[in-house]
Parts: sequence; C-alpha cells; structure tokens
Amino acid sequence: MSAQVDFLIVGQGLAGTALSWCLLQRGRSVLVVDRESGNSASRLAAGLVTPATGKRIAKSWRWAELFPAAVAFYRSREAELGDTFFRQRPALRFFIDARECEEYQRRAGGLLHGLVESTTDINPEWFDAPFGGFSMPAAARLDVSCYLNTSRAHFRARGAYRTAEVVPRDVELTTTGVRVSSLSVEARTVIFCRGFDAGTDPWFGSIKFNAAKGEILTVRVPGLTEDRVIHRGIWLAPIGNEVFRVGATYTWEPLDSAPTTEGRAEIESRLRAFLRLPFEVLDHNAAVRPVIDAGFPVLGRHPEHPQLAYFNGLGSKGSLLAPFFADQLASHLCGEGTIDPEVNVLKALCRP
Ligand SMILES: Cc1cc2nc3c(=O)[nH]c(=O)nc-3n(C[C@H](O)[C@H](O)[C@H](O)COP(=O)(O)OP(=O)(O)OC[C@H]3O[C@@H](n4cnc5c(N)ncnc54)[C@H](O)[C@@H]3O)c2cc1C
Repeated sequence: MSAQVDFLIVGQGLAGTALSWCLLQRGRSVLVVDRESGNSASRLAAGLVTPATGKRIAKSWRWAELFPAAVAFYRSREAELGDTFFRQRPALRFFIDARECEEYQRRAGGLLHGLVESTTDINPEWFDAPFGGFSMPAAARLDVSCYLNTSRAHFRARGAYRTAEVVPRDVELTTTGVRVSSLSVEARTVIFCRGFDAGTDPWFGSIKFNAAKGEILTVRVPGLTEDRVIHRGIWLAPIGNEVFRVGATYTWEPLDSAPTTEGRAEIESRLRAFLRLPFEVLDHNAAVRPVIDAGFPVLGRHPEHPQLAYFNGLGSKGSLLAPFFADQLASHLCGEGTIDPEVNVLKALCRP
C-alpha cells in the first residue's frame, strides 16, 4: 500500500525547507525527500542578507517586502524549533576606491535612505580601508546548516522526511496526482526544489540555468575578534574563536563542486587586499548557485501537468528570497493565491 500525502517535496535545501514549513502551516500533509549528497548550495551558503549589494551598491530587489517576510519566517521557526539561527546584526562594507565611495554618496540619500549609515568604526590594526566604508544596520545572517538540520529533525520526527533520490523520470502521473513507486508514495502534487539541475528533467528540463560556481575558504585569523560581517568585493564572516568564512568566487565553467587552486588563490589575494593580519586556511569548499536567467526565483505549477510544480532559481540570495516566495507558492498550491508574473515558471518555460 502506498502512503498518501498532499505534497511530495523533492529537495530539502533553502527552497524545499521553506516551502515544507509553509505547507505544513496550512495544515497540509507533506513528505520531504532529499538525497543528502552534501554538495548542495544551501549546505555551503554563508546565509548573508544585506540591503545593499553588488558593485553598484544597489538596493536589494524587493527588499521592503522580502526582508520583513524573512525576519518573521525565521523568528517563527526559531520559536517552534527552540533554537537560534537567524541573527540581525549590522554588516560593514569597505569602499574599494574613490569611485565606489562617490557611488555610495549618491545612493545613501536616495534609494538606500534609512538602510545605510556612514561609519568610522573600522579598526586600523586589523583592516586596510583607506577610502572608508559604511554600515548596514538592517543586515542579518542565517546559520543555514543549523536551520536545515533542525528543520529536518522536526520533519523526520513527524514522519514527513526521508533520505532518498527521486529521479524526475520515475514520477508517474496519475488521474489524482503522482505516484513514486520507489518511495511507495502517492501525492496530489510533487514540487521539485532541486537547486542546480544539470541532469534531464522531462517536464522542467527546458528551463535554462545561468548557474555560477562559488568557492569559500574557512580561515583562522589569530587576534581578529571582529564580530560583524565585512564586505569588500568578497566577504569575511565570523563563526567564532577567531575562525571566519571568506568568499565567494563566481565562475561559470566547469559547474561542479570541486575546490580549485585558482579559486583559493583569488580569495586569498582579495582577503589580503584589506586584512592586515596573517591567516591560516582550514578548509576549502565549492558548490553551484542555482541562478536562472537574471537571478529571479522561478515557481509555480507546470502548464500541462498541474500535479507537477517547481521552486528554484534562488541564485545567490536564497536566505532572503525563500521565505517570501515559499509562502506565495504554498498559497497558490493550496488554491488561495497567484504567482507574480515575473517569477512564474510559465515565463521560464516559454523563454527560448
Ligand atoms: C559559495 C556560495 C555562497 C553562498 N552564499 C550565500 C549567502 O551568503 N546568502 C544567501 O542567501 N545565499 C547564498 N548562496 C546561495 C544559496 O546557497 C542558494 O540560493 C540556495 O542554497 C539555493 O537553495 P535550493 O534549495 O534552491 O538549492 P540547493 O541548496 O541546491 O538544494 C537542493 C536540494 O535538493 C536535493 N536534490 C536535488 N536533486 C534531488 C533528487 N533527484 N532527489 C532528492 N534530492 C535531490 C539536494 O540534495 C539539495 O539538498 C551561496 C551559494 C554558494 C554556492
């Protein structure tokens, strides 16, 4: 006899986890399945959330909606799980040159008003920041591994989680939904939350990724007790006891999770450009960001097979994007709401 659930969720990264919570909150039955390969983007993500991003110090896309949704979502999960994994803490950004400083001056009183503040609180014994920098008081950081692990334990304790690989081709369409014989499960809807997918998917496989590999170092910096995240082209994020994560690179070929000597050299050289203290490399990892097109999320039901749905494309901002769009997708899947046209999977499926 097959187990019956409302929703089968394939993938327990940031996308699948947030969606599972949103469906459970709506009283639906869920089974989350993950192959636990260890190389997923979410397992490597630093969980950084900032209102100003990129070379042009642009305001993060839909910040005014997305950030409050993320804060409310992670705070609720913390209360439910009895753990702490989301911290709101100012982050610092150092200017690389005078041009970047001018760019900041132009934006600070306009688009970024209220989100950034000039600062002189930069320790010159630790950092070389001749052009100064600014603070982002409304920054935050998600301890992604802690959030995913505690969520997984919660789902598992309720019989809503299994370790398994679900090959999309093995999902059989039925008159009432789908059947996956290898799992002995029938569901009304299956949602693929698989991150970067270089394999073949008979339904959503035509969606084009613009995925980007990222590498990260874990370093020990004796004497450095900075507890804010520092951004200066790359970022330096404290994890305690003088240990920091630093990254990340962006490369597009090959798209695999193998750390490279070039990636390590790039991060080390960019770190030395602003860190005055010597450091020791403790670890080096890589993963692929699931970027689709220009980096917008992609979600919704398949146009011909409504029992199949998709949630992907969280790019380099999964911690910020997942809660808002998981809630939008859950609402849609439960017949309560619609998907924004700009993130609707129909758009990605139609793109040549
Ligand atoms: C180096 C690096 C640094 C980053 N830093 C940040 C950051 O600071 N802040 C931020 O917000 N984002 C960051 N990101 C981006 C973030 O990691 C992604 O946005 C996010 O993790 C994507 O989540 P996802 O659930 O869509 O995909 P994934 O994390 O890839 O999760 C997909 C899951 O599906 C599972 N899966 C796939 N196929 C199958 C199958 N057939 N059967 C069963 N399970 C399957 C996988 O095992 C995996 O667990 C970073 C990414 C990288 C690579």
